[in-house]
Amino acid sequence: MKRSPKRVVLLGSTGSVGTQTLDVIRTFPDRFQVLGLAAGRNVDLLSSQIAEFRPYRYYTADGREPVNCADCRPASLIELATLNDVDLVVAAMSGADALEPAIAALRAGIPVALANKELVVMAGEHLRDAAKHGGTEILPVDSEPSAIWQCLRGELQPPRRLIITASGGAFRDRSWDALRSVSPEEALEHPTWQMGRKITIDSATLINKALEVIEAHWLFDMPYEQIDVVMHKQSIIHSMVEFQDGSVKAQLGPPDLRYPIQCALTHPDRVENVNLPRFDPVEVGNLTFEKLDTSLYPCFNLALDVGRRGGTWRAALVGADEAAVELFLAGKIGFTDIGPVIERGLRDHQPIMEPSLRQIMEAVAETARRVRSAVPVFKGV
Ligand code: MG
Repeated sequence: MKRSPKRVVLLGSTGSVGTQTLDVIRTFPDRFQVLGLAAGRNVDLLSSQIAEFRPYRYYTADGREPVNCADCRPASLIELATLNDVDLVVAAMSGADALEPAIAALRAGIPVALANKELVVMAGEHLRDAAKHGGTEILPVDSEPSAIWQCLRGELQPPRRLIITASGGAFRDRSWDALRSVSPEEALEHPTWQMGRKITIDSATLINKALEVIEAHWLFDMPYEQIDVVMHKQSIIHSMVEFQDGSVKAQLGPPDLRYPIQCALTHPDRVENVNLPRFDPVEVGNLTFEKLDTSLYPCFNLALDVGRRGGTWRAALVGADEAAVELFLAGKIGFTDIGPVIERGLRDHQPIMEPSLRQIMEAVAETARRVRSAVPVFKGV
């Protein structure tokens, strides 16, 4: 029996996760149909994606119109995410703007493949409630939560511990003090993964790993005391789960994001993709594990400490980090200023407990604004 294609809306089609998502979709023309694409400012790339995948709705952040879209009309992000014939929304946009569309999709019963961990960090409880309300699920796309999700499949009892692996990012073999004058270009050279700019800087500070711990807490309903992080420089084991009897499952594979993307897209099916590199254990050779030395990554504890607080603290962390990374990439602050700049931006945060979505979005924007305006204070420090 011929199956009907899964109808997909992709939010963030021109970014790193978005283009890799389309790469997977391109491999399976019978399995997927793209209904809508949302892009930021890269209208040229969006235009060629529209020509290739023929969606009927699009969104651009600045309202510019792509070419080749005679049959393709503009839509808001929420309209895109809740088109009534959509089977799966892929949230691959960075930033907070994907939050409301993701919630709207879940509430409407549409599963969301989620690449943007910041959404879970700022509003984990809202996403969880929306999925429950819609009777649907969040499918993790990032490699670590995907690994945990895959390890948990088929298990009937809650696990004892999650072990999230960390590559250590661009500066894993250098001391923090030696990083004062590193350039954005150096920080953007990740040793094992090809990713977008924001997440690559977050990997170098290890804020990304703190965000993943917070994300795992909400996605898998695990207490923080039962989530560990271990350094694993090869990025072959993407995470592990320990069960009540002490048995541990790990999910392995080449560090290629198309694996977890495909796993979410084709869920619950497993489908062969000849374009992906095959795993060869002999070629990999040694897998190593080391205790995470948090003295080398002061931002890790800072982010985790703020992230464990309630209310809008996590939204404030997301806003502060976003702005601090932006300032670093623009050459306005040094790499080792990222932590202090975030800390300062959070100092005056007035948390709201049990915030609405609107209050969460405001906390993100407000903290980002505060961080940007405080920068002259930091210049030349
Ligand atoms: Mg990750």
